[in-house]
Amino acid sequence: MTELTDLTLAGARDALRAGETTAAELTEAHLTAIEGAGALNAFVHHTPEIAREQAKAADARLQAGDAPAMCGIPIGVKDLFCTKGVASQAGSRILEGFRPEYESTITTQLFDAGAVMLGKLNMDEFAMGSSNETSTYGNAVNPWKAGNSDAALTPGGSSGGSAAAVAARLCLAALGTDTGGSIRQPAAFTGITGIKPTYGRCSRWGVVAFASSLDQAGPMTRTVRDSAIMLQAMSGHDPKDSTSADLAVPDFEAMLTGDVKGQVIGIPREYRMDGMPEEIEALWQDGIAMLKDAGAEIRDISLPHTKYALPAYYVIAPAEASSNLARYDGVRFGHRAALSQGDGITEMYEKTRAEGFGDEVQRRVMVGTYVLSAGFYDAYYNRARKVRTLIKKDFEDVFADGIDAILTPATPSSAFELGAMTDADPIQMYLNDVFTVTVNLAGLPGVAVPTGQDRRGLPLGLQLIGKPWQEGELLNVAHCLEDRAGFVARPAKWW
Ligand code: GLN
Repeated sequence: MTELTDLTLAGARDALRAGETTAAELTEAHLTAIEGAGALNAFVHHTPEIAREQAKAADARLQAGDAPAMCGIPIGVKDLFCTKGVASQAGSRILEGFRPEYESTITTQLFDAGAVMLGKLNMDEFAMGSSNETSTYGNAVNPWKAGNSDAALTPGGSSGGSAAAVAARLCLAALGTDTGGSIRQPAAFTGITGIKPTYGRCSRWGVVAFASSLDQAGPMTRTVRDSAIMLQAMSGHDPKDSTSADLAVPDFEAMLTGDVKGQVIGIPREYRMDGMPEEIEALWQDGIAMLKDAGAEIRDISLPHTKYALPAYYVIAPAEASSNLARYDGVRFGHRAALSQGDGITEMYEKTRAEGFGDEVQRRVMVGTYVLSAGFYDAYYNRARKVRTLIKKDFEDVFADGIDAILTPATPSSAFELGAMTDADPIQMYLNDVFTVTVNLAGLPGVAVPTGQDRRGLPLGLQLIGKPWQEGELLNVAHCLEDRAGFVARPAKWW
């Protein structure tokens, strides 16, 4: 049998059910891999005791013949999820020492389905960033290297630890979250698959809020099938999250027929950006050819408001963040600054927040409070909300015109070097999200699939955008693309 850490989630599920391995063995293999991968800085809180406990329970269930798909599957959990009694810091110093009294709905569902938690994964602070460099733990590192260069690359962000861990075979799958691209961009940078479901498909309860109208959790895995399996276990209505949809969850895996004949795939002309590297254009053309060859009809489409998406996102997301982050005041959670003689409650708030929040988070809080302030509310926040409606309508129009899914690049480049963008204008970093934020603004499902490599051997991904609640149909197109692209490259082990 293949190395246990090389199994896919589906392969591990089948091997467990067939009695070819045990959850305990699978868990030990991954704990050992994690121990040897400190250089990747992917896992920031280790929970081997919990993992062994859960593996034991999973083996008992397997023995008894009661084994849901996630039973005995070792996963990593992004630090943004509240996990009972386990450090949950959202990558921030301000949540130092915070151990939630409760479990997020999604992790509860996964644990009920038998999943095994290996630990918590690195991320940008409060999920703000595209390179994992705003993390209080220091950045995670991409397991991939460019050609013969030894330079350390970003795994992307904000779910950088999740992406690095899955690509480096430290876990079979990981939880990520995506507010503007934080599942899809790191997935593309590390050669794995990640889906941001329709807004409302998964509960946000117990997931530390960044921008509540955009945030959505999703799986990050090595195959499309694995994403389908894990998404199934994460989805569903939760009375504790009023924005979670009361809709039946289809059997996503059963929908992976790979048949896309007659499907109409839209190619939006506005996603052909100025200065886009030729390799990205070539990747996109290859993807178009693959789907055409598989029997899909390719149609050029227009999403005219695309150019306003990034500015609108960088008004709406900070606005919501500034409100959500008001709760970190040194009283209720985590860190509190040491105070001097004569300091009152205002000094306590100010010092705690100045110490606890990193630069990017402070920048967002300032931008957010500015765009929401009385004199600027209409000019910025309200205008951004109107633009958001127009962006959503662009998508509704093309879907009404018969488009089934939309194909775009996932990112404007392959993974860049750590440090390359931190000194630059922050807008350079924001540009990473140019292909992904539209999907969050419109609340649609979007999936990133690895389909090629750049000339230095780094993975590149394409994005497919689907209709609301059609994750199954979308994953099926992604499955076809995955199958045709035959992406089998993996990072050489240096860590
Ligand atoms: N990179 C984007 C940002 O910094 C998106 C982050 C995310 O999706 N959480 O806001």
